[in-house]
Amino acid sequence: MTSRFFRAHGEFCTSHPWEVIVATLTLTACMLTVDQQSNIPPTRPAIKLCLGCQAEYNAADLIAMTLFRSLAILYCYYQFRKLYKLGSKYILAIAGLFTVFSSFIFTMTVLNILRINISDLKDALFFFLLLVDFSKTAMLAQFALNAKNQDEVKNNIAKGLAVLGPTTTLDTMVETLVIGVGTLSGVHRLEMLSWFACLSALVNYMVFITFYPACLSLILELSGSKMPTKDSLMKFVFKEEDHKSNPVLRRVKLIMFFGLMVVHVHSRWPFKDSEVYTIEPLVQQSLNRTEEPGATDGYFIRWLTLSAEHIVILMLASALLVKLIFFDTEEQFVEQRVETSTEKRPTGKTEDKRAPMLSFSLGDTSDSYEPIYEDKEVQTMSSSNSDIDSSPEDDMPRLCRALEDCLKVFNNVDLGATALSDDEILLLHKNKHIAGYQFEKAVDDPERGVRIRRKLLENTLLDAPQVLDALPYRNYNYSLVMGACCENVIGYMPIPVGYAGPLLLDGRELHVPMATTEGCLVASTNRGCRALKESGVTSSVVADGMTRGPVVRFPSIVHASKAMQWIQEPQNFQKIKQQFDSSSRFARLQRLTLKIAGRFLFIRFVASTGDAMGMNMLSKGTELSLKYVQEIFKDMEILSLSGNFCADKKPAAINWIEGRGKSVVCEAIVSSKIVKSVLKTNVHDLVDVNNSKNLVGSAVAGSIGGFNAHAANIVTAIFIATGQDPAQNISSSNCMTLMEPWGPHGEDLYISCTMPSIEIGTIGGGTVLPAQGSCLEMLGVKGSNAAEPGANACQLAKIVCATVLAGELSLMSALVAGHLVKSHLRHNRSTTLLPDAFDRSKNVYLPPCKDNA
Ligand code: NAP
Repeated sequence: MTSRFFRAHGEFCTSHPWEVIVATLTLTACMLTVDQQSNIPPTRPAIKLCLGCQAEYNAADLIAMTLFRSLAILYCYYQFRKLYKLGSKYILAIAGLFTVFSSFIFTMTVLNILRINISDLKDALFFFLLLVDFSKTAMLAQFALNAKNQDEVKNNIAKGLAVLGPTTTLDTMVETLVIGVGTLSGVHRLEMLSWFACLSALVNYMVFITFYPACLSLILELSGSKMPTKDSLMKFVFKEEDHKSNPVLRRVKLIMFFGLMVVHVHSRWPFKDSEVYTIEPLVQQSLNRTEEPGATDGYFIRWLTLSAEHIVILMLASALLVKLIFFDTEEQFVEQRVETSTEKRPTGKTEDKRAPMLSFSLGDTSDSYEPIYEDKEVQTMSSSNSDIDSSPEDDMPRLCRALEDCLKVFNNVDLGATALSDDEILLLHKNKHIAGYQFEKAVDDPERGVRIRRKLLENTLLDAPQVLDALPYRNYNYSLVMGACCENVIGYMPIPVGYAGPLLLDGRELHVPMATTEGCLVASTNRGCRALKESGVTSSVVADGMTRGPVVRFPSIVHASKAMQWIQEPQNFQKIKQQFDSSSRFARLQRLTLKIAGRFLFIRFVASTGDAMGMNMLSKGTELSLKYVQEIFKDMEILSLSGNFCADKKPAAINWIEGRGKSVVCEAIVSSKIVKSVLKTNVHDLVDVNNSKNLVGSAVAGSIGGFNAHAANIVTAIFIATGQDPAQNISSSNCMTLMEPWGPHGEDLYISCTMPSIEIGTIGGGTVLPAQGSCLEMLGVKGSNAAEPGANACQLAKIVCATVLAGELSLMSALVAGHLVKSHLRHNRSTTLLPDAFDRSKNVYLPPCKDNA
């Protein structure tokens, strides 16, 4: 009911801003001029706020008032600082300046109409500073700035008033009555200050619910396109329930309200006037007493005597100090992590990973607000076209306590880093209390850890702090990444994934996922699959052995050759194998290849690794085996577990010749009809070009394993899609493509691809990640093959080889037919982002060339 009233009121103020502003200013002007215009003597004596005029000037007065004024200024500064930490200059400007400026002006105006002598209000000014509360004005400003467009501004302000209005009204009433108790004290200065404070609270309230929303609406409307972008603001979505006072607190306030009303009515009731307790006589007595002692004594006692007024002022100052030190820093900014497991994100997606939500308390619990995370999975969508907003890291309020306070929270076993804000974590990092690679662990929340690291990075990119906006990081299961796939994570890279297929492989139709940014690649491979649809592809894995080749050194070639002979003995190999195999349930040592170079010995361990690509497994087994050999050859020095004889991620003839990982061969026969209709060429030309390019051309280039057109294209695209180690595309792309005329008259095409070193797995590494896992699932090879360990990895290797064959077929045909450049211009050149070329002769910009150019 009250909410509805305030909402309607808010709607009125924001839809008639000019009227409200003009009416308020007119009223203010009238009140300011009423004194000058009126010659009528006042019906009652003007209240003389000559604060301190009557009081004895002594040291206590000086000390108390200095303390009080300093603290008031400190408190005001603190409020500004708190507001500044919220991170928005708009909110700071609007809420801070407006509250201080307008409320003070209005209060002064009201004092003027009440004929209160403004020149005497120097202490009242400090009292006024204590009453300033930016939090509500800031919140209403946030409501307004949270709007996406101008229409929403009005609606949001009205909504904000509906939420904040009832709480503010109750708070103001209670505040006025509490302060009003001071007017009953009988202490002159306190009475005057209390009168002023009550007045100020009421004026502030009136300004807050009328003039302020009108101004806010007008400012944002007039700023038009210059309205702060959402990027520059924190994006808080306020929940109404959170802003309504908590029921217990509301009840307490109501009880206080009624209790205080009774006190006031009782105290101000006419027949009680005589009974009102006043401490004035006591003060007087005390003052009188201080004048009695001897001259010197009297001087010091008088100098130090505390009157009741001083005690009140000192109490006020102490209360303020306590509030500043103990409450504002400890309680008001304590983050509360709210588990949101059952909640859906704003995009409507149910998340498997919980999103941390933080609520910050500004004042009482009714002022808490909650940042809402927005999904930014669709990174190619421009923010102007979607509701999805950029700069998600602004979701966190930037409240930052002092380093000592942060350390206290950090070292507190019950709180820890999770109870700190992002900025505070960064503060601890800056002071070397949290390592940059340990954010995830420190806050016990991988996604938050990533976000903090992004902030850290953005702080170093001062010229372009928004550069990471387009790099997504949300809604990713980083717990699978940590300690397994990547370190110092700042997000993930979305790469388009297409599919080629169906590919008929060994009688089974498959749709092959390919992650690439090279236009044409998927289309071309797809055409190859289409050409192979009739005959299908036959495949075979002829060898399966991952390798690791350490380098060891002996004192002399005699020692080295002796050790070499010992290792080559079949019974010794068995002993080494025993050690190796004990390191894994799946890794099985097959053979050792040895090469001697002076006193260096290179031992290439070859082992099957089940469904895993096996590099880690090989490393583990090799290390164990070498330790065993070292027990026999104590003078053997293990120089490196990898002696490049493996050879991993480097071009090497040994992998091409001896094979590494899976050695696969695929073949297919394509009818002349298909060659003509689908591939738009003929068998003779295809064979001719394949021989001259892929065999002779590569030989002339001195290629090792590169007897193909573009095997690496397909290998890499499938590797990225299925979570393989992309750097292993080097050996994995080793391929020889052979073509022959086939059939009685040679009218059909025989094509084969031989790939001896496909380093691939369906378990371990990046295959554990969900997106990559789903691509593996598409192919029916995800994870471990329980019935036949290694079968999934071998099947994936066959798929890679067969898809390479399809890709080779298509590209070679395009080359023969002269379609390559044409199709690449059509599919591989983005006309949307290419800058127009400048033609100097004509002094004009030429648009990018189209297909037929
Ligand atoms: P891994 O994830 O380190 O090991 C595979 C794990 O899966 C092992 O613990 C294995 O058990 C278990 N497993 C369960 N079922 C299995 C099955 N059916 N077949 C095989 N293993 C099975 O994977 P990895 O292939 O050895 O190593 C891949 C990672 O190594 C990648 O992240 C790659 O980037 C990285 N890499 C490392 C090096 C290096 O020098 N270390 C070089 C290149 C790449 P067990 O414990 O019983 O073996």
